Amino acid sequence: MALSLFTASAGNATALLEPTLHVKPQGAEGGGGRVALTLDACGGKTDTRILSALVDNRIPATIFVTGIWLKHNAEAVEIMRAHPDLFELENHGGRHIPAVDTPRKIYGIRSAGSPDAVQAEVESGAAALASAGGSAPKWFRGATAEYSPSAIAMIRKLGFKVAGFSINGDGGSLLGAKETTRRIAAAKDGDVIIAHINQPTHAAGEGVVQGLLALKQKGMTFVRLDDAEGVGNDGTTD
Ligand SMILES: [Zn+2]
Repeated sequence: MALSLFTASAGNATALLEPTLHVKPQGAEGGGGRVALTLDACGGKTDTRILSALVDNRIPATIFVTGIWLKHNAEAVEIMRAHPDLFELENHGGRHIPAVDTPRKIYGIRSAGSPDAVQAEVESGAAALASAGGSAPKWFRGATAEYSPSAIAMIRKLGFKVAGFSINGDGGSLLGAKETTRRIAAAKDGDVIIAHINQPTHAAGEGVVQGLLALKQKGMTFVRLDDAEGVGNDGTTD
């Protein structure tokens, strides 16, 4: 699952990586297991079904926000800031541009296309978070969660860990509620879930809520990336 993605294009394109991330399993310490919920806020609006469910059920989450999203979702940011015990805000880039330093398209989105543009995307995302108040981000997740190997090295050099995942919860927010529920509810000890909190009109959001409630019901503990020892592959955390 979630192996490196090799995009064949005339045989000369750099292989893109889709890194995985796991948190330290609870394992023998006992309990129902430990998972990290990461939610991307790429742009657009806020799915208040998810935000309210997290607050009401005291489920901690790491939210990857872009500069674009921060600008248009002040109310949601305020709610997150009001619950610092629940929400950790991290860097999803300034303009939601894939951190790939050669020109290409990923899921129809044009990549940054050069090392300078990758650096600008990472730094402008951090700057947007800084101007919105709160602590400096330590994790970066690029748009589409795919990277060129050299971009990963650069992001690490800029001082960020790169946030992969181990469970694709909502398929880019395009899955139905039932399938999203099934995927998230199937999370195991040590998994890192990715889903979206910026698509209030999509059915997937309802599935995110139901999946999380099922995990909570099973006694799963939710941790944020800052509170967990996350280990990723492809040089993303070491
Ligand atoms: Zn995104």
